[in-house]
Amino acid sequence: MEHGGVFEMALEQLGSTAKLLKMDPNTLRVLGCTERELTVHLPVVMDDGHIEVFEGHRVQHSSARGPCKGGIRYHQDVTLDEVKALSMWMTWKCAVVNIPYGGAKGGIKVDPSKLSFEEVRRLTRRYTVAIMPIIGPHRDIPAPDVNTNAETMGWIMDTVSMYQGSTVLDIVTGKSIELGGSLGRREATGRGVMFVTLELLNRMNLTPAKTRIAVQGFGNVGSVSADLLKKAGCNIQAISDISGAYYCEKGLPISDMIAYCSTGRGKTLEGFSAPGVSKIDPKELFELDVDILVPAALEKQINVENAEKIKAKAVVEGANGPTTPEAERLLIKKGKYVVPDILANAGGVVVSYFEWVQSIQSFFWDEDGVNANLKKVIVSSFDAVWDTAQREKQDLRHAAMMIAVSRVAKALEIRGIFP
Ligand code: GLU
Repeated sequence: MEHGGVFEMALEQLGSTAKLLKMDPNTLRVLGCTERELTVHLPVVMDDGHIEVFEGHRVQHSSARGPCKGGIRYHQDVTLDEVKALSMWMTWKCAVVNIPYGGAKGGIKVDPSKLSFEEVRRLTRRYTVAIMPIIGPHRDIPAPDVNTNAETMGWIMDTVSMYQGSTVLDIVTGKSIELGGSLGRREATGRGVMFVTLELLNRMNLTPAKTRIAVQGFGNVGSVSADLLKKAGCNIQAISDISGAYYCEKGLPISDMIAYCSTGRGKTLEGFSAPGVSKIDPKELFELDVDILVPAALEKQINVENAEKIKAKAVVEGANGPTTPEAERLLIKKGKYVVPDILANAGGVVVSYFEWVQSIQSFFWDEDGVNANLKKVIVSSFDAVWDTAQREKQDLRHAAMMIAVSRVAKALEIRGIFP
């Protein structure tokens, strides 16, 4: 599997969970497939007048527990295989935190940093129309993911609304506050990472003040996780993004780094410097003597090549699918914890759910209410996963998967197979 696609990795996780659950092979056959895969080709008139055609996908893995839900990513390495895996992980993620959704994901194979603002907007509108036959507020609700944000969601919402002839707030989540988005949504994934990390530290008898953390990735998830963990008292010693890795033994100045990234220059840390901060090899970030490692970038970053060298006592998966099953087995054998993506980064979709509810009701919550409800969901889900792991003598991923997969299987069983 190590060199296979990520969907194979998702199937391996499902297969080993099904064994533990002694799952009916009929149910496994259904859950091992996606419900629907749509590939679209998107012609876009570029600023210089020539036409470029981009490939995009929207995959719905399961609607057994409710409308499909999941983000849309723009990345040059997007493939159908990857989007399929990500859609399956969304199904488990929504199930483990018990929100009434199934799983979906979308993606366009494009490096948006190479396109102008207007080109990205035209591409987004064309993609929206191309997937419009299968999305909808009670069918499939997109959200931001890698390289997409509130602005992208606003364009999707506007495009659907133009066709419908009225404003359709509940078609996407992760919208700007001005367009009916939820307070706290932008920070929600990082806030969830912070909550699970603090819960884990508690179980490990560590205090935030004694905790050193390295974070791979400084996008929405990595930057907010680092910021909130620092505010909780942890020492963030290393951060990396596409420009390289930055290290400071006494702790990085996270808010300065966030401010630096927001001032243009391609929105990366390229050129960032501060007293005590040195640049290290991004590979070294994984090998640092820290307590917690937070991969918050892309899939398969922790693999057989670097797993043996990881010194951190625990990995908290801010990204989706950052650890290959083989690497995870190595880490577990060494007594390390891996808090799985479907729990660790579920904060985003939990507040997406709150946003969807607010959009449907046109009744909006204050930020304290959003954050308090998020904390309740994440902490109780963490407790349930931890207790299941203890009871079943399993690692945290298998415990989370056992809870999630059995919820989806149960829904499927109750509904029965149509017709
Ligand atoms: N893209 C995020 C994720 O991977 C959020 C999905 C959503 O809010 O629907 O969980």
